[in-house]
Amino acid sequence: MKKRGKIFLGITLIFVFVTLFSYLNRNQILTFVEKRKFSQLGYQEEDITTIYKELSVEQRKKLLKLDYFDSIQDILQSENYQSNNLFLYLSYIKENRLSRELISDAILLVNEGIDQSYSEELVSIVKSEFYLSNRLDRYLSYQKIHDVSVEEVIRDVNANIDFPFYTNTVPCDSTKGTSLLINKYYYLDKENFSDDLVVMDPSYDNQNGDQLNRIAYGSFKQLVDDAEREGYHIRNNSAYRSYETQEAIYNNYKNQYGFDEAEKWAARLGYSEHHSGLSLDVGVEKRYAIGKFEYSKEFTWMKENAYKYGFILRYPKEKELLTGVNYEPWHYRYVGLEIATYIYEHDITFEEYYAYFIENEKNH
Ligand SMILES: [Zn+2]
Repeated sequence: MKKRGKIFLGITLIFVFVTLFSYLNRNQILTFVEKRKFSQLGYQEEDITTIYKELSVEQRKKLLKLDYFDSIQDILQSENYQSNNLFLYLSYIKENRLSRELISDAILLVNEGIDQSYSEELVSIVKSEFYLSNRLDRYLSYQKIHDVSVEEVIRDVNANIDFPFYTNTVPCDSTKGTSLLINKYYYLDKENFSDDLVVMDPSYDNQNGDQLNRIAYGSFKQLVDDAEREGYHIRNNSAYRSYETQEAIYNNYKNQYGFDEAEKWAARLGYSEHHSGLSLDVGVEKRYAIGKFEYSKEFTWMKENAYKYGFILRYPKEKELLTGVNYEPWHYRYVGLEIATYIYEHDITFEEYYAYFIENEKNH
């Protein structure tokens, strides 16, 4: 009887297995085994459901080889989750021992391709409005030595002032047309000086024969005409400058007041925006002292209206460190309506605008 009983049990078991196999295919059995492994690692039913929903077969296999992550749900369901970055998130979180609250920060950093150790400063830099990934190292080193806000770190480095003026200089990108940048880091090669210059009509020009870029001039004429109709008399005092003219201006300052003063008030050769034909100094009538312009009603009008014609006040007050140039109420630069409007509305310098929107081609 004992023997018969064993045989009976054996047959029953075989029967049960055969029945099971007929209901389940191989994959289902493998899945069953895999799910058990996940739950043995510590994953809850809910986690496992999400894992099966989000992960490929290969990813699941890889995940099983790792320790349990209590934040797996948060990661997989995060708004910025990118499937191909999964294991980078996991190793970043592990290496930096990040708590669940910091998962979204970790995801952000990894998505940005950053492998530096986690810190709140790092996250706030990356989250900052005008953050440029190719300047991260510069932001971090600037932040180490300057006690300023994150926004200021971004602003200053974007304007390049983590380097002293006239260092790390490069030729400006003259293919940018009316949005090219000339300052103490970007100079204009002599051969790239504006070739689309027109001689200004005396009714717009105090200088008799000054030249301006064709597009900028068209806009300046409109500005002058509209201002005139409202009773404001705006004229050009100094527009395009050749290499030789700028050389004479700089040397004049230097001979009269010395090197330091010349550096303060005149740009070195190639570094004057006047070389572009896109900027001009304005005044009211002939031989108008530029120092007086700030107190004129014309200046008030220009401050409020120049952008409508595509011009910006290029060297504003209290932005001297960013532009590298003293406050110049009389100096306007043509950048076109769209850029001028943005700069006017956001109260930023052309340096900041250029770094973010033009050089790095970010969108508004
Ligand atoms: Zn000027």
